[in-house]
Amino acid sequence: MLKSEYLQRVYTQVIARDPDQREFHQAVLEVLESLDLIVEKHPEYEKHGIIEAFVEPERVISFRVPWVDDQGRVRVNRGYRIQFSSAIGPYKGGLRFHPTVNLSILKFLGFEQILKNSLTGLPMGGAKGGADFDPKGKSDNEVMRFCQSFMTELNRHIGQFVDVPAGDIGVGAREIGYLFGQYRRIRGSYDAGVLTGKGLAFGGSLARTEATGYGLCYLTEEMLKCMKNDSFAGKTVVISGSGNVAIFAAEKATALGAKVVALSDSNGYIHDPDGIKLDVVKDIKLKRRARIKVYADEVPGSTYADGFRGIWNVPCDIALPCATQNEIDEETAKIIVKNGAMAVAEGANMPCRPEAIRVFQEAGLLFAPAKAANAGGVATSGLEMSQNSMRYSWTFEEVDHRLQEIMVNIFHNTYDASVECDAPGDLVVGANIAGFLKVAGVMLAQGLI
Ligand code: NDP
Repeated sequence: MLKSEYLQRVYTQVIARDPDQREFHQAVLEVLESLDLIVEKHPEYEKHGIIEAFVEPERVISFRVPWVDDQGRVRVNRGYRIQFSSAIGPYKGGLRFHPTVNLSILKFLGFEQILKNSLTGLPMGGAKGGADFDPKGKSDNEVMRFCQSFMTELNRHIGQFVDVPAGDIGVGAREIGYLFGQYRRIRGSYDAGVLTGKGLAFGGSLARTEATGYGLCYLTEEMLKCMKNDSFAGKTVVISGSGNVAIFAAEKATALGAKVVALSDSNGYIHDPDGIKLDVVKDIKLKRRARIKVYADEVPGSTYADGFRGIWNVPCDIALPCATQNEIDEETAKIIVKNGAMAVAEGANMPCRPEAIRVFQEAGLLFAPAKAANAGGVATSGLEMSQNSMRYSWTFEEVDHRLQEIMVNIFHNTYDASVECDAPGDLVVGANIAGFLKVAGVMLAQGLI
């Protein structure tokens, strides 16, 4: 129950409108709980309906995606784009291709994206999209035909000043290439800034591939330094997932002196007490597109176990969940605490359930929420857009340096906001409030209501 009668009314209406959208409710409630600390000081929010508008997407697009498989059969998936907020810039957010994709998941992701993008300090609104298409087990040609059909509809809704999609689960460099190719053919114009995460030869940014994982580690390192006078050096790290975010988080954590001992996929997890060999993981996941299980077949001394949740039984100092939403529940969080962890930072979006976050915070662990911790990906997408506008490319070092600065700033803005609203060190509250104040201020200034 929220203290503010206004916020409670908004939340009740969110549930009444879309009773089945549980992930969206969860994301909204977490933000409203933070706003409960400041809303009394801002009567203008209620007067101008700011929070009602904030929780309602500006536009929800749903469309049919027909494509032909390698046997010549027509298959039909459902595609979406949630254009949630364009208050501070063009809509910006990734595309997810995964069989679990639905409106609830994309609305939660689009909603979080508004605050995350606000925290980066770059002029980007919030959006998310995708399809219930499973790229796993599909041939390259099938993925290409799917992407082309998806873009045949999506192209009319996006543009470098309108909405700029990027990758997410199931959408990497290959898919962005096919999507961009179709956009260019349909529009007859080379609008490089319409998508981010592109290949380097057609307007992509150096360091974009690494950015979410690297950024997660930069923010975590700053949090460890400022809140515990500590660092990654000498720490044992467990990272869930073995996709884009997980692999590059593992690479940077290792470079900062930590030992990463476990990674997972949706089937199970590997444990290598000597430290995961990342060249082997990259070869398996990025080149061969095989399952993480193969690692244990190829690296002596490592083991594989079925079931992705089991990874959290492996003791660690720092836990970086980088797979998907709601993978850490209350029981799992208690195991992580009991095994002696000191910090948890979210690489995935909303990987920890609210009860799990409470367990971490009550046990005194440092906790960095996704909105702040994984903002490095979209921040570097913002840098890719800047380079596209300039028709120029920065070096890897330049982009990486800017990314580090952005992540350090996000930590400090988030921490400072937590202090200002009497919840010092609660970075969940800090991220929600720091992100929200800017967007709400712009909504009022632009007279959106
Ligand atoms: P990838 O598709 O590259 O990798 C996803 C990883 O998570 C895979 O190992 C996958 O295993 C695993 N996974 C997916 N679904 C599940 C599930 N239901 N249960 C267990 N494991 C699962 O995606 P990314 O690395 O890009 O994204 C991971 C997370 O990070 C997502 O929450 C995404 O929203 C978030 N994120 C990504 C950003 C980016 O720049 N890529 C930016 C900010 C956030 P399997 O192969 O078996 O499916």
